Amino acid sequence: MNPHLLFWIPAVLRLSFILLGAGVLWYFFGPVFGLLCGMAGMCVLLCVQLHYLYRLADWLDNPNSAKLPDGWGAWTDIFSRLYKLRRGDEKNQAELTEWLARFRQAMSLLPDGVVIMDDVLFLEWCNPAVEKHLGLHLDRDKGRRVTNLVRSPEFMDYIILGRYDQPLTLSFRERKLIVHIIPFENRRQILVTHDATESQRIEMMRRDFIANASHELRTPLTVINGFLEIAASQPNLDTQTRMAHLKLMAEQGQRMQNLVEDMLALTRLESIEYPLRPERVGIAALLEQVHQEGMALSGGKHQISLAVDGPDIRGSTEELRSAFGNLVSNAVRYTPADGSIDIVWRDTASGPQLVVRDTGIGIRQEHISRLTERFYRVDKSRSRETQGTGLGLAIVKHVLIRHNAVLAIDSQPEKGSTFTVSFPKESVC
Ligand code: ADP
Repeated sequence: MNPHLLFWIPAVLRLSFILLGAGVLWYFFGPVFGLLCGMAGMCVLLCVQLHYLYRLADWLDNPNSAKLPDGWGAWTDIFSRLYKLRRGDEKNQAELTEWLARFRQAMSLLPDGVVIMDDVLFLEWCNPAVEKHLGLHLDRDKGRRVTNLVRSPEFMDYIILGRYDQPLTLSFRERKLIVHIIPFENRRQILVTHDATESQRIEMMRRDFIANASHELRTPLTVINGFLEIAASQPNLDTQTRMAHLKLMAEQGQRMQNLVEDMLALTRLESIEYPLRPERVGIAALLEQVHQEGMALSGGKHQISLAVDGPDIRGSTEELRSAFGNLVSNAVRYTPADGSIDIVWRDTASGPQLVVRDTGIGIRQEHISRLTERFYRVDKSRSRETQGTGLGLAIVKHVLIRHNAVLAIDSQPEKGSTFTVSFPKESVC
């Protein structure tokens, strides 16, 4: 039996009792008295129902489960069912609100931009990343047409052509964006934006690096191949010419080797598979070695001094030898004969410093910020003449990044340059 029927049986019994009572009174006291008493009983019952109907209507105006009225008779069942429905509803609503809050938070943390638009591109919703990418702002732009907000001919063409199966690469406000429109439901579309500025920059750097490296390797290879062809076609060349050719070939071979070694060194320095393994670096011995190498490179054409007055540091001896060696070798190679070079290790309030000062050709101001770029040279022919690869300062930069150190370059054309490497205080051991 339906359990709710139990609440209705007393109601039927109450009605039957009134009718029966009215019949008995009719029988004993006449029809007028019986009918009057029956009507009075019905009126009382009606008033009770009207009272609860009024309370129900009142509750429906403000349907809060905590304020649901208590019932009487069949109303108890009605109110308890309404209470259950309302509680279920409130629970669903709370869950929905929580999900919505979570969804909003996830969307606000997303690095990609998301815009929800209707079929005619009116903005309905967007996340904060879109503000950075396209300059859209939900509060300000809701209900406005996205094509009126993103003013770009490429974007307009993309919308007009409607080839949404392909994303669009858009240059917008000095950013490279990958924009994709995805239709969903019947009359809505999502616009997704991805900032590809950094990845495109890295890709361009990679392409430039490959192009530059190939170019650098092609020149010595062409020279070597040329001499090999001469040797093959002219077997009777005199010894002196052959020796001169072999010397030039050896120089070009050395140049290629330097280049490959520098490229490998750079790759190692950038790779996360080769983390820095800090050790105590004996600065005096390290700089003495660099000093000796500088003097050997100079071949007695320069005066090279060394002054060490500072503490040892923690770092990679091998990497620091390569960085310091590059700075000293540059000073020698870009300083005309009879010039002087000072190598100084000193302690300062902010930490130890290496200073490599020369009286060489100097560098014009506009070049200074680009010197640590790979293959960037102020004077290409001079760099090649002195076996430069164009990668020396790029290696220095990466070694210093790994040691939390910074490079400062101060230079005046025709007067000389000062390269200062500053290490943090924490590197002292
Ligand atoms: P390279 O192998 O060409 O020397 P680097 O990366 O070591 O490459 O240096 C980049 C450029 O910086 C050099 O080509 C040169 O023009 C300039 N440079 C570096 N050191 C000095 C210096 N001490 N004096 C003048 N110019 C320098």
